[in-house]
Amino acid sequence: MSYRIAVRALCEFAAKRGDLDLRFTPSPSAQEGIAGHQLVGERRGERYEREVALCGSYRHLEVRGRADGYDPAANRLEEIKTHRGDLSRQPSNQRALHWAQAKVYGHLLCAERGLDQLTVTLTYFDIVSQRETPLSESCSADELREVFETLCQAFLAWAQQELAHRRRRDRALQALRFPFAGFRDGQRPLAETVYKSIHTRRWLMLQAPTGIGKTLGTLFPMLKAMPGEPLDKIFFLTARNTGQRLALDALRSLGAERQRLEGAGPDEPGCDDIDIDIDSAAEAVPLRVLTLTSRDKACEHPDKACHGDSCPLAAGFYDRLPEARVAAVERGWLDRAGLRDIALGHEICPYYLGQEMARWADVVIGDVNYWFDFHAMLYALSQQQQWQVGLLVDEAHNLVERGRGMYSATLDHAAFRRLKPTLPAPLKRPLSRVASVWQALAEESDVEYRVLETLPGKLINALQQTVSQIVEYQSEQPIALDSELQRFAFDAQHFCRVADVFGDHSICDVTRQSPRGRQRNAGARVMLRNVVPAPFLAPRFAAAHGGTLFSATLAPEAYYRDLLGVPDDAPWMTLASPFQDSQLRVTIAARLSTRYADRESSLTPLADRIADQFQARRGNYLAFFSSFAYLEQVADRLAERHPEVPIWRQASRMDDDAREAFLGRFETSGEGVGFAVLGGIFGEGIDLPGDRLIGAFVATLGLPQVNPVNEQMRARLQALYGHGYDYAYFFPGMQKVVQAAGRVIRSGTDEGVIHLLDDRFARREAQALLPDWWPPATLD
Ligand code: SF4
Repeated sequence: MSYRIAVRALCEFAAKRGDLDLRFTPSPSAQEGIAGHQLVGERRGERYEREVALCGSYRHLEVRGRADGYDPAANRLEEIKTHRGDLSRQPSNQRALHWAQAKVYGHLLCAERGLDQLTVTLTYFDIVSQRETPLSESCSADELREVFETLCQAFLAWAQQELAHRRRRDRALQALRFPFAGFRDGQRPLAETVYKSIHTRRWLMLQAPTGIGKTLGTLFPMLKAMPGEPLDKIFFLTARNTGQRLALDALRSLGAERQRLEGAGPDEPGCDDIDIDIDSAAEAVPLRVLTLTSRDKACEHPDKACHGDSCPLAAGFYDRLPEARVAAVERGWLDRAGLRDIALGHEICPYYLGQEMARWADVVIGDVNYWFDFHAMLYALSQQQQWQVGLLVDEAHNLVERGRGMYSATLDHAAFRRLKPTLPAPLKRPLSRVASVWQALAEESDVEYRVLETLPGKLINALQQTVSQIVEYQSEQPIALDSELQRFAFDAQHFCRVADVFGDHSICDVTRQSPRGRQRNAGARVMLRNVVPAPFLAPRFAAAHGGTLFSATLAPEAYYRDLLGVPDDAPWMTLASPFQDSQLRVTIAARLSTRYADRESSLTPLADRIADQFQARRGNYLAFFSSFAYLEQVADRLAERHPEVPIWRQASRMDDDAREAFLGRFETSGEGVGFAVLGGIFGEGIDLPGDRLIGAFVATLGLPQVNPVNEQMRARLQALYGHGYDYAYFFPGMQKVVQAAGRVIRSGTDEGVIHLLDDRFARREAQALLPDWWPPATLD
């Protein structure tokens, strides 16, 4: 069996040494890179061959790639690299890596065309000045073969263990059995549907009630499909951390962590914390599992910059990486703590070790942005390495908002003002140009909020130039990751990239921002606001072998199809509920209005209804409101009229401890009402099974506030789909309602009640959006 590897991956593995060094970044975007390559290609003669596909082998390694260009007249192979900033600042190990790539292509070309000698040229193209810097070496075929063989030799042992791992992994997955005596109700059809969809290389949109066991029910069939398809990787993507924990639990139940436990001696640190009954666990499965953590959370030195002169965990990173990589694959189970443990044990950065291990893991658990974002690391790696990837997207209803966030960009004038006094001298000029164009844009109009017909070209030009200057500066002076300047550099670059792909799917708007207490010198927040993420997400769906988007609330179908850009042939399915009608009672208060104008008069009826229900069946309840102000008013009224009902309230800012304390009040056999805001941290992603929660009150339709921004979104969605109000207000609101109320029934033995406290819930269109499995609502 041969091991196939791309030229770039081979060189990155075998030829990279020294420090991690991000000073030469931000590097050009993918679009800038493509445009740069094209431009250089166009400057060459007619006989110049572009994108030359090459392939060669060394023992059981098969090495493939595309050389950027070959000029047969000059017998010159060219590797083109786009860059920003002063080339003399490029780290030497990056240059060495580029040479290694160019020479490997050189060898493959010589071998394929029988050449004895070749000129190998590394052409650096500056995307700002559009200048080329060519570096050439004349090489004999023997020299190039030696480079190739040395690199292959360095990779060979790793390739062997990779092949052996894959064989063991696939054998174990073929034999993998469901870890429990039986499937839960509804879980078998769920698993079968996921299996079929990946087998037919399609996407599936799946709405399934909570409590079926969706995480295990989707992971198990995907793992079973892995050897046959074959899949290189499974990515389990979530919009919240709770989903990541559930995925780890499911993989634990399948025996993925057990390989580590069995391999580890009894004294291995960390074994005590593992909450698993080894005797009853499934057979060990040799599966490498990795969780990815954001740089903000994983960074050990947030006050430093990511290069060896500043951060000790970046110094010598690539020298120590090989040993850390071996330790990491031996451990197999790389949750956040495990990865950190290995990284710090080898004195390298845990965040960048995580990025490296994504290449060698079988299942990667991470945020949706790792696949769908502009700079999505897993997506980019998959493209480079041509992996066959199976994707599972948990709580997929969140992808509309998350997708919008990924493809929107903001320039915040208040943050820019804070930056100005601390600016280093070399950056004062470029940033003052940005300031003056920005100010001119702010002063074009004195309305608070306006939408621009065209992009602010002058501002974007000024930003592009400034980003280059910051990169230059950064190459000489470390900028801490958490500094205002670093943040501005990221924001500015992101703004320029979003501007490059601006279209009908987005709005460019300007909101005036006045310095505190002053009207003069008002600045402006400029935003490229994505409304429809579908054009950006669709290619990402297409790039996977197949996958499943799943959620308890993925209706209406057309709304999610339109906004997410799921492939047309992706079936949409809703699974029947395993729950009995008798488990849940739904009541609609058909004569109560929680509209803004009726708030005052709604306080007493709301408080009395909550108290009546509490007295009828004492236990734990959650009550949801549209805002903190409304929440406080109703809670105060309840406390005043029914002081015997214990209550606790969500605060507008809650850290992890406060959040845990709020949830901790929901004890089994506890009594009281937790007051929360709809769409907030307690509105989804929390699990309070059994008696921990026996009912929910929802005193709002969850409609987003009517304001100029939402009205613009409505208008754009109306123009694109003819459903402006539904898409901008009604569907997102009802989705939050169903999510929040869905906290009540979490298992086949739960019993509870949902009170929908507004007359608008009695309308046919609102009832049509309630889940099929809810029993018909009683109007009260
Ligand atoms: S520890 Fe932080 S500063 Fe250091 S390399 Fe890692 S992410 Fe960068």
